[in-house]
Amino acid sequence: MPETAFDPGQIVRGCRLAPFTTLRAGGKAESLLVVRDADQLAAAAEYAQSEGIPMTTLGGGSNVLPSDAGVPGLTVLNLARRIQVSEDGAVEVDCGAPLQDLFLKTVQRGLAGFSFAVGIPGSVGGALVSNAGAYRANISDRLTGLEVVESGLRRWVSPAFMEFSYRDSRLRRPGSSDVCLVRARFQLEMGDAKALYDQARDYQRQRIGKQPPQASAGSFFKNVNDKAFAEGLDGLPPALKEAGVVPAGHLVEKVGLKGFRWRGASVGLRHANFILNSGGATAGDIRRLAEHVAASVYERFGVRLEEEVLYLGDWSGWQTTGLLA
Ligand SMILES: Cc1cc2nc3c(=O)[nH]c(=O)nc-3n(C[C@H](O)[C@H](O)[C@H](O)COP(=O)(O)OP(=O)(O)OC[C@H]3O[C@@H](n4cnc5c(N)ncnc54)[C@H](O)[C@@H]3O)c2cc1C
Repeated sequence: MPETAFDPGQIVRGCRLAPFTTLRAGGKAESLLVVRDADQLAAAAEYAQSEGIPMTTLGGGSNVLPSDAGVPGLTVLNLARRIQVSEDGAVEVDCGAPLQDLFLKTVQRGLAGFSFAVGIPGSVGGALVSNAGAYRANISDRLTGLEVVESGLRRWVSPAFMEFSYRDSRLRRPGSSDVCLVRARFQLEMGDAKALYDQARDYQRQRIGKQPPQASAGSFFKNVNDKAFAEGLDGLPPALKEAGVVPAGHLVEKVGLKGFRWRGASVGLRHANFILNSGGATAGDIRRLAEHVAASVYERFGVRLEEEVLYLGDWSGWQTTGLLA
């Protein structure tokens, strides 16, 4: 790796993070570094980890809510986007690459596997952290290896390192944020390019019909996997009862919060699991509304909704209130 890969002179102090998030909310990064290749990212992570500086890597900012109080330490905006596709379907990709680019580059070679990702606005790294997925496919399905920086060391690890489950990996858990994902390898199989484009177009059409156009981080809460609960719930389609899946949006709708507003934040009208920045919402407004939604669902159904969106930075002064008065 070149010695010049990491240049602390490029660090910007006190940079607003809201423009780098799809929710358009949150405070400032204590320091922000933009990297454009995998070596720069790895070098920044090696530096931060060996100096004991907390580091947050940001991809598309489409699954996060940074605190109004800011994000301490070093925030690295990962714009490393190289994608290499081999004849045999092996793919090596920088974790800052947008999922859309990954779909396009692979489908152009007739490779199947990433149609599900069309319309998910983030990067490969952010998708791996939350095991992002849609239409019964997940980013972890075809993963064969990951390059990480952990404890100041850069190395390749197997997918088992991530301990993936539904919308979850060990990188979402407290204390494990000290891992930076640099590159990922996938193994894809040949498919029919036209059929893959058609499928992606169909998925995109479904999304346009369901997703609100305003600023959001997609689904705010995870769906509830509980067969007994699903079977006993009125109005849930039979296929979901059979699968034991209760969409969080179904519960939010049932408690009558579709379209509910709190200051600049609101619950989606088209999709009740979307919390929107309808104009000028602070991160606190958004989190307060999310807590009201979760408390309302708990009061009615006794089920605790778990956030899919990650709260970043210093929330130490945050007081959880539950239901809004
Ligand atoms: C309109 C809309 C629709 C969506 N639809 C879906 C959907 O269908 N399915 C789904 O699963 N999600 C969906 N999402 C959520 C989101 O797009 C995905 O979770 C996405 O993969 C997140 O990627 P990102 O790069 O934006 O992550 P970010 O928001 O930038 O980061 C998310 C987390 O990952 C960490 N992180 C990011 N990159 C790295 C890295 N290189 N190393 C270590 N940590 C890293 C961050 O620190 C943060 O904790 C949607 C969001 C929106 C706005």
